[in-house]
Amino acid sequence: MEVFLERMKDEWAQLITETAPDIRVLTAGIAQQHAEMLSREFYRIVLADPHAEEYLTNEQVEKHLTHSLQLWVQEVLSCPAENIDQAIKTQHRVAEVHSRIGIPVELVEMGFRVLKKLLFPVINISQLKPEEKLAIYHFAINSIDLSMEVMSRAFSFIESSSGKEDENYRIFSLLENAEEEKERQIAALLTWEMDIVYKVMLNSDLGNSLPLSQAEFGLWFNHKGRHYFSGIAEVGHISRLIKEFDELFWETRMSPRALTNKTLRVQFLLQTRNTQSQIITLLRELFDEVSRHEVGMDVLTKLLNRRFLPTIFKREIAHANRAHTPLSMLIIDVDKFKEINDTWGHNTGDEILRNVSQAFYDNVRSSDYVFRYGGDEFLIILTELTEVDTLRIAERIRVRVEKIRIKSPTGENIPLSLSIGAAMFNGHPDYERLIQSADEALYIAKRRGRNCVELWRDTQ
Ligand code: GH3
Ligand code: MG
Repeated sequence: MEVFLERMKDEWAQLITETAPDIRVLTAGIAQQHAEMLSREFYRIVLADPHAEEYLTNEQVEKHLTHSLQLWVQEVLSCPAENIDQAIKTQHRVAEVHSRIGIPVELVEMGFRVLKKLLFPVINISQLKPEEKLAIYHFAINSIDLSMEVMSRAFSFIESSSGKEDENYRIFSLLENAEEEKERQIAALLTWEMDIVYKVMLNSDLGNSLPLSQAEFGLWFNHKGRHYFSGIAEVGHISRLIKEFDELFWETRMSPRALTNKTLRVQFLLQTRNTQSQIITLLRELFDEVSRHEVGMDVLTKLLNRRFLPTIFKREIAHANRAHTPLSMLIIDVDKFKEINDTWGHNTGDEILRNVSQAFYDNVRSSDYVFRYGGDEFLIILTELTEVDTLRIAERIRVRVEKIRIKSPTGENIPLSLSIGAAMFNGHPDYERLIQSADEALYIAKRRGRNCVELWRDTQ
């Protein structure tokens, strides 16, 4: 990425130095004069694409995005050599926003094409000499292409790491029910074995028994288990055991009289038992090995790690937009926590964090998400709650924590309180905005004297 950015910077600098200053001034003037129209037209055309509907609504565009694009056009088309670094950073920022909103790369590419198409008549109607128009067009198109290249590269870079987090979240979801899943798969294996044992013992025949790869456990393992636990040695070992057993299974099935021979029958049953017990041992190891810690659960509080925020926010914002349901969030910070640590020690501090986390959990529904956001900061995403109910939950949490009685090592009660910032999702597709709003509300709550809930209002 670094090498690529250096190259892009050089190219951009070269484009600027090779373009006559008066042409650059004229281009900047055109950008200044027409940015608003270009931005409006741009979104009119992009929104007409049925694909765009999934990601953007008219209201979001009008309220939030048209102005941003206007500024972007002006920055890119009037960038002086000394501001190239800044312009490159802008492309990164825009790529981050696109990734957070979940806009697909094709839609962005289409947007750039539309922009270039719109620029041509704008340049062409001006009262300039043809060679000047050509030079302006050349400069403008190349500036846009350079920006686009930086933006696309940054986007792929961001997406490849957020893809990993999506994957981690899948594993995490599986492990939330890990005990249940593990027991279910062990039970499936035992049932499969029992079926074979009965048939062989009673009829000296496999009857309609299934090979392991097609039995319930084998199907689960091939479709899900293998992927959930990919990269862990036990996976390969289980795959081999399934394959080896099935070879024996088919061999036995092909020679119908094999199981009438007692020695062969005993051998076959021992092999079945052996396979089953080895797989169960490996399966237990597999579930234990991918511990909650590794997939990103916060170790101290057992809450969601903040690295899952993008995955969950993207999903919940898409849902809120699609289903027109409300979405809200709280940012919660323990009051004077540093003082608590300093007075009563870090271990007591840890115990308090565990206790407040439990209080969060007890006061939200199973469809909500509770994250540890930082040291003594927490973030809760509340699904389908109105403003009134969001504030009610926030207040309930605040009161509940106020009542927690934790004794200091010297036996005194430690006073405990929270400040809470709340914000309602307002349609802006970038979840960072929502977090910022709740954060501002939290700041106000702290300034108001702590131990209170503050709601961020759009008019603020
Ligand atoms: P304010 O009311 O303004 O929030 O004041 P504060 O003292 O809580 O200020 P701040 O939020 O900056 O302090 C957070 C403290 O949390 C600082 C840090 O030492 C402590 N901390 C962060 N992580 C942990 C942890 O895992 N365990 C413990 N015991 N302390 C932690
Ligand atoms: Mg604090």
